[in-house]
Amino acid sequence: MKKKILSLALIAVCMLGLVACGSGSASGDSDAAFTTVNKGVLTMATNAYFPPYEYYEGSEVVGIDAEIAKAVADKLGLTLKIEDMEFDSIITAVSAGKADMGLAGMTVTEERKQNVNFSDTYATGVQVVIVPEGSDIKTVDDLQGKKIGVQLATTGDIYCCDDFGTENVEEYNKGNDAVMALLSGKIDAVVIDNEPAKSYVAVNPGLVILDTEYVTEEYAAALNKENTALLEAVNGALAELKADGTLDAIIQKYIPAN
Ligand code: GLN
Repeated sequence: MKKKILSLALIAVCMLGLVACGSGSASGDSDAAFTTVNKGVLTMATNAYFPPYEYYEGSEVVGIDAEIAKAVADKLGLTLKIEDMEFDSIITAVSAGKADMGLAGMTVTEERKQNVNFSDTYATGVQVVIVPEGSDIKTVDDLQGKKIGVQLATTGDIYCCDDFGTENVEEYNKGNDAVMALLSGKIDAVVIDNEPAKSYVAVNPGLVILDTEYVTEEYAAALNKENTALLEAVNGALAELKADGTLDAIIQKYIPAN
């Protein structure tokens, strides 16, 4: 009796093995392994007001993310198409199957992971505080009770609401709108990612970035949860771009001191 069960189990294992083997070879033609929203096109969703990751130069969206996406698309044999939208809409566009990849200096968070998959990370971001020169805000703790401007639905928005109360947080659609409000004295500080912060401070005299950092984060591309084949392809492309120095070169071009 025992022997019979054993041999049945053995047959079952063999069959599983065959099935596994069969599906393995079926996906062997790897070119057709992933699909995109539009055939032959990698549609990137972004918010193009986040220098140096994405911003307009004339009518063209340029920046670190735009160049990385182009390099990934090239590796995958796809044409890149960039769609500019509110930051708040990017995850929805990806999860609703309207865009293939959200690339927007987007921080990996557990909450976002419920709606999208994240690629391997390609950059680090830091939430920093911008204040007017001579402000009495010297550290992150000094933000207590102050009016803080943030970009809607960003991690800066989420942290500030948690730490300082929603009643003290003013949400703006674009980081630049928050900076303009700071310049006109409507708010006391802006919490935003370090690289855009540097860009804004560089073109707006009278503003400074606090030395103390608020939160350190990882940036990654957001992809549709169902499309794990595209996720793997993007990760493969990113790994190659990392290994051959392309990724570093792109980041150096926009952030020379790095
Ligand atoms: N890194 C921040 C976030 O993911 C801000 C990104 C952005 O504004 N483009 O929420």
